[in-house]
Amino acid sequence: RAAAPRDSWSSESSGSSGSGDPLYRVVLLGDPGVGKTSLVNLFAGLQERDLLEQHGEAAYKRTLSVDGEETTLLVMDTWEPEQPGEESRRRSQCLQVGNAYVIVYSITDRGSFESASELRIQLRRARQAEDIPIILVGNKTDLVRCREVSVEGERWWRGGSDWWDLAPGFLPSCFPLVPGPACGSARGASGAVSPPCSSLAEGRACAVVFDCKFIETSAALQHNVAELFEGVVRQLRLRCGAKES
Ligand code: GDP
Repeated sequence: RAAAPRDSWSSESSGSSGSGDPLYRVVLLGDPGVGKTSLVNLFAGLQERDLLEQHGEAAYKRTLSVDGEETTLLVMDTWEPEQPGEESRRRSQCLQVGNAYVIVYSITDRGSFESASELRIQLRRARQAEDIPIILVGNKTDLVRCREVSVEGERWWRGGSDWWDLAPGFLPSCFPLVPGPACGSARGASGAVSPPCSSLAEGRACAVVFDCKFIETSAALQHNVAELFEGVVRQLRLRCGAKES
């Protein structure tokens, strides 16, 4: 299990959302073993975490101070692996209740990266018309030598100078793309100079395809974990601001 959060976090524990501020449900999704519980433990703080029982499930509530404003998140670590032949009520409930989603994969486990894109598709199906913040998280960046989600991939052109670098075979067939000029080609179809092939990590490219934010973390080193949850808060505020205006 990961250690308690750094003192420098700009956040405080809270047992309730306090002054009538809205409370946002954030659901963690991802394969077993990718580090969801470790990330949630860091969010909650080992000493102070407030374990709530919600329909018999664990969730952690905390008020974060981000950009001088407080927001309360209820982070739910309730995702369970798919059982063969079983429609899980809990799984479909998880896909329905979140105001925001954190989809976690391990950079050391290619299968978990592929599951992450499956989960994004499931989420899109379950919440079709909704604009929900989704953050794709590549965890375990401390395990550099075991990295399986590489920083290089195939380049695909969307047309003009618009391209994505993706893992070989990653692109779902439903995306109307064509392979672009070979990697290393200096110019795209519109004549724009292309960056080097390795400039875009697969995780980031996946986030672009699936229209979500992307961050790499290490729960073990407590790297980027505060930034992850602060990012969730900012994404929620952006959506709320858009709804209100
Ligand atoms: P979950 O099943 O997705 O909730 O994963 P856990 O949080 O239980 O973590 C599974 C294992 O991976 C545990 O042994 C953790 O200590 C380990 N782990 C989690 N995050 C990291 C990380 O960032 N780096 C390393 N090296 N190990 C991690």
